[in-house]
Amino acid sequence: HYSNFGPLVLELEAAFAQQFGVPNENLTTVANATQGLELVLQALDLPVGAHVLIPAFTFVATATAVVRAGYRPVLADVDACTWMLTPEIARVACECIRVDAVLPVATFGMPQDMQAWRQFEGDTGLPVVIDAAAAYGSQWLQGVEGTLVFSLHATKSLPAGEGGLVVSS
Ligand SMILES: *Cc1c(COP(=O)(O)O)cnc(C)c1O
Repeated sequence: HYSNFGPLVLELEAAFAQQFGVPNENLTTVANATQGLELVLQALDLPVGAHVLIPAFTFVATATAVVRAGYRPVLADVDACTWMLTPEIARVACECIRVDAVLPVATFGMPQDMQAWRQFEGDTGLPVVIDAAAAYGSQWLQGVEGTLVFSLHATKSLPAGEGGLVVSS
């Protein structure tokens, strides 16, 4: 019932899909957000050792997922006001160092600006994945294409003991 395409998990995924305004196939539940991030990063199909820019201020799982996907986490400083890795900071980093993808975090549930990140993707050609682990209820696609990964861990905003959710247009 709870996994492997059982009726309850399908009902849950359909309810999430409605919330995010995406077709059911653009969304999947996962065992936890770390695994969700790992799967999304793998799906980007970057070369082994690719550099993924992440904020220096985050939970360790952001970097864990990058390492487990076979890539290399590269730390960027965060904005002093929002405590987040912003598109502006990522643009400067790209001018100085090699960056192959960006994994910003919705810090403590503060939503990332999806339009600004979409613009960043268009300008740089680099894929962006949002670690929205603690941001269910505040981080949305905001009407643009993008990929969000949420945690349903006991300590997050939508706790289910353990679990995760990937939403990707
Ligand atoms: C909690 C958290 C994770 C990991 O979530 P799990 O579901 O426990 O794997 C990843 N990133 C951030 C920013 C988190 O806060």
